[in-house]
Amino acid sequence: MSSTTQNGRLDAPLTLALSKGRIFEETLPLLAEAGIEVTENPENSRKLIIPTSDPGLRLIIVRASDVPTYVQYGAADLGIAGKDVLIEHSAEHPGGLYQPIDLNIAKCRLCVAVPTGFDYQKAVHQGARLRVATKYVTAAREHFAAKGMHVDLIKLYGSMELAPLVGLADAIVDLVSSGGTLRANNLVAVEDIMHISSRLVVNQAALKTRGDRLQPLLDAFQRASAPRM
Ligand code: ATP
Ligand code: MG
Repeated sequence: MSSTTQNGRLDAPLTLALSKGRIFEETLPLLAEAGIEVTENPENSRKLIIPTSDPGLRLIIVRASDVPTYVQYGAADLGIAGKDVLIEHSAEHPGGLYQPIDLNIAKCRLCVAVPTGFDYQKAVHQGARLRVATKYVTAAREHFAAKGMHVDLIKLYGSMELAPLVGLADAIVDLVSSGGTLRANNLVAVEDIMHISSRLVVNQAALKTRGDRLQPLLDAFQRASAPRM
């Protein structure tokens, strides 16, 4: 990126990219531990740039899957994104992001789910070629390849639960926390692919040029997210 962007100016505030919803809400306590308060709520405000009590830090509100892009190009110095999002991003943009801290927030599992009554294990054993709908094609492809299964992946951008109900797919790969959404749609998780949590990601150039300003924030996130004894 050119150094003429606002963040290229050494006196510009640090910019943290976040999505609204659970990541924003679960980040507030981590910021509070660093002594930083956020008074505006992006759910009620239409503002996409949100100040904090620290004039040296502002937040930008972007789609969850856009967080890595803002950080990679340096429009944000750092960001918070789920491991699911980071896996899909790094498949297309390898090696651009420094991922120093697992924040242990927005925890869930990436799972294979099928309609209740569908015998997934039997289908796997018989070598059936399943159609699998998902937003997480990279993670899904790696999972089924490691199992030696041939699947046809269908990329969707949301509401994966619908796909098996209307005959678009035999199975889905989706994030699950309570399982309530699956149950409501007569689906059941049959295989765990991985545990998911959100990570802090940092722009590599910012780490070099603004490390003195970034480091105290990284230390605070590290302290705030460490598992408690
Ligand atoms: P968008 O709503 O913009 O399409 P999204 O659905 O990925 O994007 P969120 O629902 O806010 O956005 O999810 C953000 C992140 O939170 C996900 O990338 C994932 O890491 C995590 N997450 C998603 N669903 C759950 C869940 N049910 N429980 C806990 N964490 C979750
Ligand atoms: Mg969502």
